[in-house]
Amino acid sequence: MRLLSFKGGIHPEDGKELTKGEKIVRTAAGDKLYYSLSQHIGAPSVPIVSKGDHVLRGQMIARANGNVSAFVHASVSGTVEGIEKMRMPSGNMADCIVVDNDHEMREVQFQADKLEEMTRDEILKRIKNAGVVGMGGAGFPTHVKLSPPNPDKIDSILVNAAECEPYLTGDYQRMTEEPEKIMTGLLAVLKLFPGARGYLCIEDNKKDCITAMEPLCRDHNIEIKCLRTKYPQGAERVLISTVTGRKINSKMLPADALCIVDNVETMVAIGEAVINGKPLMDRTITVTGDAVKNPKNLSVPIGILHREAADAAGGFSKAPQKIISGGPMMGNALISLDVPVTKTSSGLLAFSEDVVSESEPSACMNCGRCVEDCPGRILPTRLADFADRGDKESFLKYHGMECCECGCCSYICPAKRHLTQSIRSMRKILLDEQKKGQVKVK
Ligand code: SF4
Ligand code: SF4
Repeated sequence: MRLLSFKGGIHPEDGKELTKGEKIVRTAAGDKLYYSLSQHIGAPSVPIVSKGDHVLRGQMIARANGNVSAFVHASVSGTVEGIEKMRMPSGNMADCIVVDNDHEMREVQFQADKLEEMTRDEILKRIKNAGVVGMGGAGFPTHVKLSPPNPDKIDSILVNAAECEPYLTGDYQRMTEEPEKIMTGLLAVLKLFPGARGYLCIEDNKKDCITAMEPLCRDHNIEIKCLRTKYPQGAERVLISTVTGRKINSKMLPADALCIVDNVETMVAIGEAVINGKPLMDRTITVTGDAVKNPKNLSVPIGILHREAADAAGGFSKAPQKIISGGPMMGNALISLDVPVTKTSSGLLAFSEDVVSESEPSACMNCGRCVEDCPGRILPTRLADFADRGDKESFLKYHGMECCECGCCSYICPAKRHLTQSIRSMRKILLDEQKKGQVKVK
């Protein structure tokens, strides 16, 4: 099988050996669940339950509010306690519906159906009603992604199974333990785009996954693409370019390159929604790092606290100095574990050393390594300088918005400059200003 790759990128410490092969363990929920109304991009969902209401597992508790919003469902049965503002993994505050768990896990009646009997509209409606969003981090509502303006022209459905973030192995386990669930989701998406071919895009450090998935692809219009293990192979634009040779920039969507891209966990959620009529209630999360007692892959009810996920992995064997929600490259540092797991939480990492904040940045030595390794082919060092000086005009002129915030530049910089952090802050300012109509960046 030909190995595909891209220009730039890095080989960070893998860390996957801690949980690779650790079977996904179902984790029980605690006494209270916290369902954020902002688990997706777009406007916060609107609660449709009130204090004192009894809810069932799978019951819709908040409705979408606008075109790129998503429904939210309870992942346990219990009683609505009210709405509480809580800190999210991103650091932002969000309203959460709090449910007192009755520990009975009584479910709504899910309506299973056959894919061959469903129309395009029915498939999309099921995905929308299930509250499925991109679970790799972006939280873009999946039914919107699957409704491009040019559906007849879409020719490639990419399953992002690169799992290029170090330490995370949830997708790896899904592919080896439940490959048929991923296939079910992919077949549902392919039914929406009959002119398209499916591609399972897997890095070459996951040979077991290729072995598990290959027999399932044989009788379908689906092919496995083997990718060279390199970070950030799974970044959406990088993946599209590697697999199809088509380039898109930050102003474009994958559909502009005639592609749809969804990650492994999202494909599972699509399959569950379309075939089993189940809303998004649970997700896989890798709990790992040298400070975690028993690193594990867990299937957790959405809405549990990160603290409970840590406890399910035995808690900490040493005092963690750095805790991250997500992967080590693109995740968010947590200052508290009392933060709910959302639809986009892929990992909880705890390290006994905080290498980044312990290293003092020094002046740039013009080694050029950040430029060489940047997959966006932009100039991290100059962009970080513009960002630090608040020079928005130059930041835009030098294509700062093309940064995918992969973290390669900071990782590789021998002067330990916080390049990604500076660029990310400026991007956030500009995107916020764009939302308010103060600046045009896209
Ligand atoms: S500038 Fe952005 S895209 Fe380039 S390496 Fe840094 S974080 Fe990644
Ligand atoms: S990697 Fe660091 S030291 Fe080298 S050019 Fe980039 S910013 Fe400067």
